[in-house]
Amino acid sequence: MNNSDLSDILKAYADLSELHGGNAFKIKSFSNASFRIDKLPTPLETKTLVELEAIEGIGKSIAKVIFEINQTQRFPELEELLAQTPKGVLEIMRIKGIGPKKVATIWKELNIESIGELLYACKENRLVQAKGFGLKTQDAIIKQIEFMFANANKFHYAKAYPFALNLIELLNQIPSVTSTSLCGQIGRGFEVLDSVDILIETEEQSLAAQAILELPGITSSKEKISFQGYTIAFHYCDETSFAWELFRLCSDAQHAESILQRIGFPLPEVRDDEEIYEAADLPFIPVVLRDNRGEIELAEKNALPKLIEYSDLKGPLHNHSTWSDGLNTVLEMANFCRSQGFEYLGMADHSKSAFYANGLSEERVYAQQKEIFGLNQQWTDFKIFTGIECDILYDGSLDYANEVLKSFDYVVASIHSVLKMTEEKAMERLLKAIENPYTTILGHPTGRLLLMREGYPIDHKKVIDACAANHVVIELNANPYRLDMDWRHINYALEKGVMISINPDAHETAGFLDMHWGIVAAQKGGLTKEMCFNAKSALELDAWFKTKRG
Ligand SMILES: [Zn+2]
Ligand SMILES: [Zn+2]
Repeated sequence: MNNSDLSDILKAYADLSELHGGNAFKIKSFSNASFRIDKLPTPLETKTLVELEAIEGIGKSIAKVIFEINQTQRFPELEELLAQTPKGVLEIMRIKGIGPKKVATIWKELNIESIGELLYACKENRLVQAKGFGLKTQDAIIKQIEFMFANANKFHYAKAYPFALNLIELLNQIPSVTSTSLCGQIGRGFEVLDSVDILIETEEQSLAAQAILELPGITSSKEKISFQGYTIAFHYCDETSFAWELFRLCSDAQHAESILQRIGFPLPEVRDDEEIYEAADLPFIPVVLRDNRGEIELAEKNALPKLIEYSDLKGPLHNHSTWSDGLNTVLEMANFCRSQGFEYLGMADHSKSAFYANGLSEERVYAQQKEIFGLNQQWTDFKIFTGIECDILYDGSLDYANEVLKSFDYVVASIHSVLKMTEEKAMERLLKAIENPYTTILGHPTGRLLLMREGYPIDHKKVIDACAANHVVIELNANPYRLDMDWRHINYALEKGVMISINPDAHETAGFLDMHWGIVAAQKGGLTKEMCFNAKSALELDAWFKTKRG
């Protein structure tokens, strides 16, 4: 079991104990241990009891619990509490912003045992009177539940993608299936999916459909077909209509309609979508751009962007090593990047206020820089840049004195603390950070976690305008749970001349590959190689950093 799962188990135990009125001291120690473990750089899975006991902030009794979980993969005390809690109450516990104490009130005093009941009770203002609640909390709960409902049964693109490819492989082995393709939201590269859509070419639809239901991993009910938990939508057609169907299923409805109108009826026979755009007398429009966001007008003017590709990237700029909360050393991270053919690695470990992530004190900043200068001596074709992911503090200032900020090649400024704020407060913090002369890149601008956390509200245009005025690059955080900034704002950034950096925020070497997801989102936003910050060479970046620092 990895540290993150272990941490979740301890936290679940702490929360459930609190819900059931357990010992406050014990709850606190489990909760603290969970927090610590999640941020520990080394895995606890193989540690002995003595080693576990030696870890700061864990303590003897919890060390024993962890050791037993590692041995048996079970935690009987947690199982007991789970058995005593109704399923609907467990779901209520997943609502952000109401802790176990409030859930206990909801359950035991208001007799509410499901999220649906809770929403109804909120709408009837029943929570306002309950102890520890108020109108503000009630409104926040309504908002949270509506967010959860709106996001139920949705999937992350990156999570569903490998399963979709697996399924395609299985489909291609069915004799009556002659061709297959991803389409719909997954074909168009949307970051969040309602279903995985697949177009199937077959001359024997009922035979193919029957064979599909018999595939391993497929389950079906009246409402839907699923493959290993993902909702699948199958679309069928024959060979003559495959190209047209695929075009229709890979385009926004309005986009498809406009193209059909340009071509006129009867529609000609085509082999692929290239021939469709030829028939429409337009240059080819890539699938990722067919969102009816002005791409047809651009095509008419022959002004479609030449989209960034993965091979254009010269290196990743926002990454963490064992100096803060990463799993690999700087050297391991660098060697991996070099083996991938990158020209550079930008290290941007956490700054000092991010104590939970082992953020770097001033002393450790200089020590890391010294290590990096040393490592850089061994290469002529590769460079590690000394950066930092610097916390934007509550008042918008950065986490170090100017003297320290000056010592970095570049600074990624991000908000990690007090994410619950009004747009006014968020903007005050962001704008002040953007105006700081040492800020090179604005990190994950909204703090969102797709399907999990909405992110604080911001005025995207004002943020972009400020970045333009202060020569600040905006990050497209390529972690598939973030993809923040949202690609829908990229075109405005490009209009204003603001560059975008596709940053993996890698916490281990495998994390670099997340840039693939960032590329899909960047393409949807129309990003070009020229406007992608980390498509610049090491030399160009060096020059940019120097100019920025003055
Ligand atoms: Zn961050
Ligand atoms: Zn980070």
